[in-house]
Amino acid sequence: MFRIRPIYDTRLPIDIQAVEKAQEILRERFPLLDEEDVQQLPDLLANPFIKQYRSILFVAEDGRANVRGFALLCHFADLHFCYLDFISVSQKHGGGGIGSVLYERIREEARALGDSALFFECLPDDPALCRDAAALKDNIARLRFYERYGARPIIGTAYETPLVEGGDCPPYLVADPLGKPLKVSRTQVRKVVRAILTRKYKGACSPEYTEMVVNSFNDPYVRLREPRYIIGDESAPLVLPAKVSGDMRIALVVNDKHDIHHVRERGYVESPVRIDSIRKALAKTGLFEELTVRHYPESHITAVHDKGYVSYLKTVCAKLPANKSLYPYVFPIRNASRPPHELPVRAGYYCIDTFTPLNANAYNAAKRAVDCGLTAAESLLSGRRMAYALVRPPGHHAERKAFGGFCYFNTAAVAANRLSALGKVAVLDIDYHHGNGTQNIFYKRNDVLTVSIHGHPRFAYPYFSGFSEEVGEEAGAGFNRNFPLMEKVDGHQYANVLVRALQAVREFNPTFLVVGLGLDPAKGDPTGTWSLAAKDFVHNGRLIGRLGLHTLVVQEGGYRIRSLGVNARNFFVGLYEGMSEAVRR
Ligand SMILES: [Zn+2]
Repeated sequence: MFRIRPIYDTRLPIDIQAVEKAQEILRERFPLLDEEDVQQLPDLLANPFIKQYRSILFVAEDGRANVRGFALLCHFADLHFCYLDFISVSQKHGGGGIGSVLYERIREEARALGDSALFFECLPDDPALCRDAAALKDNIARLRFYERYGARPIIGTAYETPLVEGGDCPPYLVADPLGKPLKVSRTQVRKVVRAILTRKYKGACSPEYTEMVVNSFNDPYVRLREPRYIIGDESAPLVLPAKVSGDMRIALVVNDKHDIHHVRERGYVESPVRIDSIRKALAKTGLFEELTVRHYPESHITAVHDKGYVSYLKTVCAKLPANKSLYPYVFPIRNASRPPHELPVRAGYYCIDTFTPLNANAYNAAKRAVDCGLTAAESLLSGRRMAYALVRPPGHHAERKAFGGFCYFNTAAVAANRLSALGKVAVLDIDYHHGNGTQNIFYKRNDVLTVSIHGHPRFAYPYFSGFSEEVGEEAGAGFNRNFPLMEKVDGHQYANVLVRALQAVREFNPTFLVVGLGLDPAKGDPTGTWSLAAKDFVHNGRLIGRLGLHTLVVQEGGYRIRSLGVNARNFFVGLYEGMSEAVRR
């Protein structure tokens, strides 16, 4: 797990340390950079008057406060644009999709600032402009990365003129339209370019050079290069089932109110765009039929969560002002009999980590997610074979009386408990992280089998549960199975373990299967370490579908926005195929 944190100044020791670590990464990754420029970073953050723009540093930190990467954004408030100065990941702690998450956070910030576009420089991918073959390869990779977001070099200008004659690798000026049609006029872009050359690169460009470049922007509106790397839909076309019969369609219930819960201030990876990108990918399949969300009484929630916990969440959220996040800060774990009286202080009594905040809408959004889970479960009871609750916030880390890991109510557990009134239920958690909440809730029960495949708690969140020796207690002894896996796992290795987990489900012989679908086992997920590819999700879906059980899928984690949609779609195509084979057998 890591989080992204914006740093606006260096008043706190924690921020000073983070800035120092960002400076170390700068020195490590940009050895040719002037030490004076590196030294200037804290002053730039503290004082926007130095260069006449404001600088914001975004750091990606892991649980051990290692800065794994950073991005430095310059906001030119007077001209309504942002300029991305640096984005870089640490050699030692980098990887795992940190670059993507940082870049997505930067785009979100630029959008929130109301800017028309995000500008930055990128070294050229044209062999005529870059003679060094190794550098050219890196430049191609970078431009390809940005192209996925619609960011491409501005063409028809003299921006890529070397500062000194014969100089190699002059940068392009790249514009990211931030997901909208780009409409930047000549007058506007000339102001932007002048500001970049005279404020950002003050002293580097002569007045003549600046004039020459500014005046070369002659098109009435800025034009971007045609896409060079990402042509059409990036995902490989998937063969969809030829005919989807109505009775086999998967009921889809989407949390229509998920976006009321949006934790902005810490670059929280659990963001609203997750749902939108999955929904968009599913729309093209013809496999789903969307149902309207129904309301259910809170008693469904208190059937699996502690009453005091539920009423605490409801009360404290209702009292929080909009846009205020309450992070737990006192942890009275040594005396469970005395929950602190003050509501804000009590948060830590009910929480397992420090990165999941409470806010005005956390209860409402989580309650709505539960309603979606129950609506989807109900559709199984009225004869559907498969249903999917596409929800956030996720739920599987929420225990009987604790929130954490972005989760507040355990939607899958509430739904499983509802279904258990009509037959035995197996819950299969295939999120990268252990489903500690679901395990905790059903730990002493033998009518609900809980099975989880996840990164070993030795190195993966939640760090304290998910060990293989946790098998259940009392009546539940033998009805919890954990499959903790190594740090590096590919699709093939994963499928082998999934087959074993499914065997445990078969032996239990349940009526219902609830799948906690995490998409974070995917390659490049910022919170995971595995490398499952798009095709692996088809295969896993198929294996699960072949059980032929009445299946409810509940969305859990998965944070790599670029591949979420494709992987979810593939999972359901596989699930559909597997189920079709099973029911026709
Ligand atoms: Zn997860």
